[in-house]
Amino acid sequence: MDCLFCKIVSGDIPSTKVYEDDMVLAFRDIAPQAPVHVLVIPKIHIDSAQDVTFENSDYVKRIFEVIPKIADSEGLENGYRVITNIGHDGAQSVHHMHFHILGGKAMLERMA
Ligand code: AMP
Repeated sequence: MDCLFCKIVSGDIPSTKVYEDDMVLAFRDIAPQAPVHVLVIPKIHIDSAQDVTFENSDYVKRIFEVIPKIADSEGLENGYRVITNIGHDGAQSVHHMHFHILGGKAMLERMA
């Protein structure tokens, strides 16, 4: 499958890893929109959060277990934002589910 983030999981495309386990990989966004901008992805291909099912939701569980650990290691004690974009209207550009961790500054109140 021609998926950018699957290639990052396989190591065919390099990334700056900040966390990895058997189910999840986290790496720095190549075009950061905040002082801390990390992407957390499942190691299996799931198109988007719209495609989460009873069969694959353990990956989402694991992602939300590791997000606080990453936030701690990135020094985000004042808080941060977690975003997942879905489909065209959600402005999703990479169609492998990912959760943005954005922090290191106060976020704007408006989200859209
Ligand atoms: P989204 O627009 O929600 O699909 O987010 C995709 C994100 O992937 C964007 O913030 C991009 O900057 C980021 N991105 C694209 N290519 C890479 C890459 N090779 N390594 C790290 N981040 C990337």
